[in-house]
Amino acid sequence: MTPHGLLAPDEPAPARLIGADTKGRALLICDHASPRIPQSLAGLGLPVEAMARHIAWDIGAAALTKALSERLTTPAFLANYSRLVVDCNRALTAEDLITTDGDGHRIAGNEALDPAGRDLRVTAIHHPYHAALSALIDRLAHSGPVALIAIHSFTPVFRRRARPWVAGVLYGDDDRLAIPLLGALRQQKDGAIGDNEPYSGRNPGAYTLHRHGSARLIPHVSLEIRQDELVTPNGVRRWADRLSRALRPLLGTAGISP
Ligand SMILES: [Zn+2]
Repeated sequence: MTPHGLLAPDEPAPARLIGADTKGRALLICDHASPRIPQSLAGLGLPVEAMARHIAWDIGAAALTKALSERLTTPAFLANYSRLVVDCNRALTAEDLITTDGDGHRIAGNEALDPAGRDLRVTAIHHPYHAALSALIDRLAHSGPVALIAIHSFTPVFRRRARPWVAGVLYGDDDRLAIPLLGALRQQKDGAIGDNEPYSGRNPGAYTLHRHGSARLIPHVSLEIRQDELVTPNGVRRWADRLSRALRPLLGTAGISP
């Protein structure tokens, strides 16, 4: 066990960086990249098949983030643990920081969590995740303009309603990247693109970009891709192509080398 007592010595750090040796300055961030639960939490009492479902992670988001990192030759920062352990895209005060309800599934291992158990997850994962991200952004920002692009995926059906968008562009007050990106994706005329749909970028749920983008005045945008678009390698490639085509020119215009 580490001093934190949550992660075993053979388990990965809270996050990993890929494309560290690239010259790109648009940092891709994937908060919900992994369904992994630390061994010490015994699967949170969930059946194994539940872990593969979307409640544990954003299906296809990690694969898309990696493919886009290659297309744009830019670094990507990905979470190594499930949002069910502690959601790194939530403030420490958020009710669903450690959720007990995964889209209708009870998360037994979170229901009985005491304050010490909660602190352990925050100390072992949430804090080091954001400290590493912050240090990385500092390093990049030291040598010129930077942009942050968050990659998520959403379920095709929510509360029995089919979601009509193939993807959504999410943003709050800073729409420097979002508005031109929305225009570029819509111009591709390949399925409906949501404007702050299926979620709003103003939602407190958009914690990572609020903390590292808004607070530091760094241009940022969040992308949500519908999960059925990303279930095959071809689908992932297609979206990596679409997004890199849309992003490359507008990052260039903003003076940020993609
Ligand atoms: Zn997500």
